[in-house]
Amino acid sequence: MKEATIITLPGDGIGPEVTEIAVTILKETCRAYNLEINTIERNFGGIGYDRDGEPVTEETLDLCKKHKFVLLGAVGGPKWDDLCANKRPEAALLKLRKELGVYANLRPIQVFPDLAGSSTLKEEIISGTDILIMRELTGGIYFGEPRLTSEENGDPFSVDTMKYSRLEVQRIARKAFDAARLRDKRVLSVDKANVLESSRMWRKSVIEVSEEYPDIELSHMLVDNCAMQLVRDPKQFDVIVTGNLFGDILSDEAAMLTGSIGMLPSASLGETNGLYEPVHGSAPDIAGKDTANPLAAVASAALLCRYSFGMEDAAKKIESSIETVLKEGYRTADLFRDEPETKRIGTKMMGEQLLKVLRQDIKSSEVTIEI
Ligand code: NAD
Repeated sequence: MKEATIITLPGDGIGPEVTEIAVTILKETCRAYNLEINTIERNFGGIGYDRDGEPVTEETLDLCKKHKFVLLGAVGGPKWDDLCANKRPEAALLKLRKELGVYANLRPIQVFPDLAGSSTLKEEIISGTDILIMRELTGGIYFGEPRLTSEENGDPFSVDTMKYSRLEVQRIARKAFDAARLRDKRVLSVDKANVLESSRMWRKSVIEVSEEYPDIELSHMLVDNCAMQLVRDPKQFDVIVTGNLFGDILSDEAAMLTGSIGMLPSASLGETNGLYEPVHGSAPDIAGKDTANPLAAVASAALLCRYSFGMEDAAKKIESSIETVLKEGYRTADLFRDEPETKRIGTKMMGEQLLKVLRQDIKSSEVTIEI
């Protein structure tokens, strides 16, 4: 049996509840493919501040860099909202992404047929939607300098800076074009080039990269139009590549196509490192109530198999177990609608159902050792 070590950072709110299930599913799946997963768990976010005085310690960052693969829950909550910027839970997240150099954030937005009715949008609009949002993660306005609050003639003001270099844009554009080659061969670059200098640089740099990919169709859209098109006709999109701020907002909007933010996984990739986390936050309103949807966290573990371990079959096994439990009618509260043959269940029970399906699937199919 081969071995791999991953760092788990369950974080705050519902983070620990959903991460525990994701780890169980990941271990069980990988074991079937002859890979034993060892986990090292560390405090991260608000809980890190409470226990270690820092939202993330240098030791934790070093461990993450050493072991390369990280499974994260979520961070944040009202308890830590009034801390200064560098002590806030979100600071840990930004630091970790930056230190790992994970500049490409992949967010697959797929509407499961059994959940098409759970979205607030009409079924005929969303069914068949399959989008990959590629968000730049380590640049743009979340990191640009200067970043300050000051005063001018007694009037306080604040500054954030949206800055992108050609290299930063081109490396994410290449990831988007590569991803499109495995899909419908279409890339849409989203910016605000009618107003922002940084967007004009973005667009020009993406066009330059597109010359290396004559087989991929490139188009451009302004972010405000994209926000509208996502709810008007989401099936038109294949791969969307965009900057940090626009990607943050568009991917949460796209989350609602799937029925719940609790369904959306993400992978953040650098040259060798991988950070996997559900798109949702710590959901303090439902933390500790056994109502959180763990499927985004579990699907993030599937992405870890795919992108960091190169275990495509294992990733598909996890994804098909999610599809099966949904087909069997199991729903956490966020997905539940009072319909025949659907059963409302809690977080833990969802984990147990997944495990049951996965074990049956592994038992009934001859799994082959991939690595
Ligand atoms: P949120 O994603 O935590 O919650 C938004 C809504 O979605 C809430 O009603 C919540 O109950 C629901 N929800 C989220 N995940 C769910 C799940 N798995 N199952 C069922 N329902 C779910 O966003 P928010 O309320 O804006 O932020 C709460 C805290 O999380 C804040 O402190 C914020 O800074 C932080 N946050 C962290 C991350 C992260 O760790 N990556 C991302 C976004 C927000």
